[in-house]
Amino acid sequence: MEHDDVLPVLYDLVVTIGSELSVKPLLTRTLQRLLYHTSYSAGFVCLNVPPCKAEDGQVEVRLDAVVGDFDLVGVIGKPIVLPRALICQSASRETEQTALLSALRCTQTQYKSCLRLPINHSGMIVLLAAEMPETNLPLTTMLQPVLAHLAKAVILCSHNDAYTSGLVNQRDLLEKVFESSYSGVMITDADRHIVEVNPAFTRITGYSSEEVQGKDPHMLASGRHDHDFYRELWEDIGNNGHWEGEIWNRRKNGEVYPGWLNINRVCDSTGTLHYYVGMFSDISKRKQAEAQIHHLAFYDPLTELPNRRLLIERLQQAFSFGARSGQHGAVLFIDLDNFKTINDTKGHETGDLLLSEVARRLTSCVRDGDTVARLGGDEFVVVLESLKTGADEAAAQADLVAEKIRDLLSQPYRLAEYVYHTTPSIGVVLFLGHRQSLDDVMKHADTAMYQAKTAGRNTVRFYDPVMQASIEARADLEEELRYALELQQLCLHYQIQMDSRNRPLGAEALLRWQHPERGLVSPAQFIPLAEETGLIVPIGLWVLQTACVLLNNWQGDASTRDLTLAVNVSAKQFRSPDFVTQVQRTLVDTGAKPSLLKLELTESIVLENVEDTIAKMRELKLLGVSFSMDDFGTGYSSLQYLKRLPLDQIKIDQSFVRDIVNDPNDAAIVRTIIVMSEVLGLNVIAEGVETQAQRDFLDSRGCHAFQGYLFGRPVPLQDFEASLKA
Ligand code: C2E
Ligand code: MG
Ligand code: MG
Repeated sequence: MEHDDVLPVLYDLVVTIGSELSVKPLLTRTLQRLLYHTSYSAGFVCLNVPPCKAEDGQVEVRLDAVVGDFDLVGVIGKPIVLPRALICQSASRETEQTALLSALRCTQTQYKSCLRLPINHSGMIVLLAAEMPETNLPLTTMLQPVLAHLAKAVILCSHNDAYTSGLVNQRDLLEKVFESSYSGVMITDADRHIVEVNPAFTRITGYSSEEVQGKDPHMLASGRHDHDFYRELWEDIGNNGHWEGEIWNRRKNGEVYPGWLNINRVCDSTGTLHYYVGMFSDISKRKQAEAQIHHLAFYDPLTELPNRRLLIERLQQAFSFGARSGQHGAVLFIDLDNFKTINDTKGHETGDLLLSEVARRLTSCVRDGDTVARLGGDEFVVVLESLKTGADEAAAQADLVAEKIRDLLSQPYRLAEYVYHTTPSIGVVLFLGHRQSLDDVMKHADTAMYQAKTAGRNTVRFYDPVMQASIEARADLEEELRYALELQQLCLHYQIQMDSRNRPLGAEALLRWQHPERGLVSPAQFIPLAEETGLIVPIGLWVLQTACVLLNNWQGDASTRDLTLAVNVSAKQFRSPDFVTQVQRTLVDTGAKPSLLKLELTESIVLENVEDTIAKMRELKLLGVSFSMDDFGTGYSSLQYLKRLPLDQIKIDQSFVRDIVNDPNDAAIVRTIIVMSEVLGLNVIAEGVETQAQRDFLDSRGCHAFQGYLFGRPVPLQDFEASLKA
């Protein structure tokens, strides 16, 4: 090995030493490597020089380690005497070498060079070497610059070594650490009474040392952890001598903060417990920052899905990708159909569980590169990328995914012991590059979702321009509905209700809108609109008044005297604070017999706020009116609630009646509803009865009241009264 080759190797070794903490073992290793690389026949010894034992020019040192091919192993750990001048580095090179070599009892013939490397005051390393005959380069010349560095590195390292080498008073050091530590330190005795805290403790908790001495550390508890938490913590310390983790504590000023706590048991050599040492840091800032960065910036904290901001970013990327590749992408706008009901009736916790589960299912439906985002509430967006270049094929692909999502989200949800059902409405829009603006794509997807909702929910709909027109028409309709009442375009039709011996029991009043241009508008079309705009409140009151006037009129005729009149009440109307007063006043004003007025409620009304509903129903019952549960079976009411509601009647929804004869499921449901009504002491009526077979089936199963086209369609009052007479 040439001189120039050797130096870099050695330099590396020096740097290695400089970066390590513990000097002696490292030095041993490094010097071994050094010798190996230089292929000198050499070795070294480590001498341990005790602090001030120098007398009369002689110093007794201990031989700590020997590396190399000489026979000194026998003297390891033994003292040898060296000239004091050698240790003080004042001896001349000659003296130094001779003295050292003779002290180490090495013969001059074998080792020609000798280099010493002092390690602070604690000792030195002596390098001994035989010259290399070929190069004729003395070892000292060759290694001089390297050893200079080595010495510096060793001195640096030995600072770190000071503690272990016993040069610094341990107590002083510990005290320094305790006082200057950034972490709060708390020491308790074996009975967990605080004996000492450090300044950082005071800074973090607000309690001075005097305030806490002798106290139980539990005084710092925030109340956020339950009994089990602390029990497990102390169990851990008992078992392992140690506990580490996150903990919420309370400062003196009452503020609760998260900390990272580390508790250790301190025992003596016999194993007797003396202290617990707790070290903790306040991690509230870190946590806040983390939470902010993670949750607020780009992700929805509940579902961990990308939020709107990240969605926009991903969409922009998808647009750019599509522009380059010519491939379509798709945006799926997903809204849950009855999330609000579940959220309102089962509580937000259940709602949150449901949303998280929906997020999981959505994620499972898409490929890795696709994005599932939550916009808020129950609105989710899925972005599909890299679809086919042809629009039709791409649409088919997107439809496949959308249907898969629809299917998966309609599966039952088991959330905290209960099972829930929901369905999605999904709007789909395709995009290709930057042909449409991002805003437009999102708007169109939203519109398509709305279209899916109006198409009966649990549906997938693609955006198309025709939709735009119908949206606008809806806006017009809303405007016109505002004046319908004033312009006397609203009227009531009546549909007869019969018993099994074909005797009229009464009628249901059904609202109709006679529009000057549109003709007769179905309530299915305008009632939801009236609900949304709040117009249902004045309209509903008008229906109630009209029905009560009629009830009063019917009193004058024997054929109509005992007929009941069922009036539909919408959620908004029922919830309005003066609904009870309105009914009461209407009954008084019109002179209608309250027992003949039947209010039809739907399950969604009832479930919205069960306690409030029960209270309101009781008040109304005191007036003498009765209640029927409309569309029964389509909602989510449980027997639990049903039992508590002061109902008089259950109305089997027409969707069950429709296939009752052919569909064994529907037949079973209807049978169950009838039995349940009996158990609850309620009477039961079936709506939507169109055929004799349906009627007979119901009659034979115990339902003896009917409403449906078989007996009569909803008709204007004149026709209704005429048919009664006939
Ligand atoms: P609903 O209360 O369940 O009323 C029964 C609906 O079923 C009525 O539709 C009725 O015409 C229809 N129907 C009756 N017999 C049969 C049958 O044999 N076969 C079929 N296929 N259908 C039958 P309509 O009149 O279109 O009313 C729809 C919904 O509008 C009502 O459902 C009710 O929820 C709401 N509605 C009607 N009038 C009012 C009102 O005055 N106030 C409120 N809040 N809602 C109303
Ligand atoms: Mg009804
Ligand atoms: Mg109904």
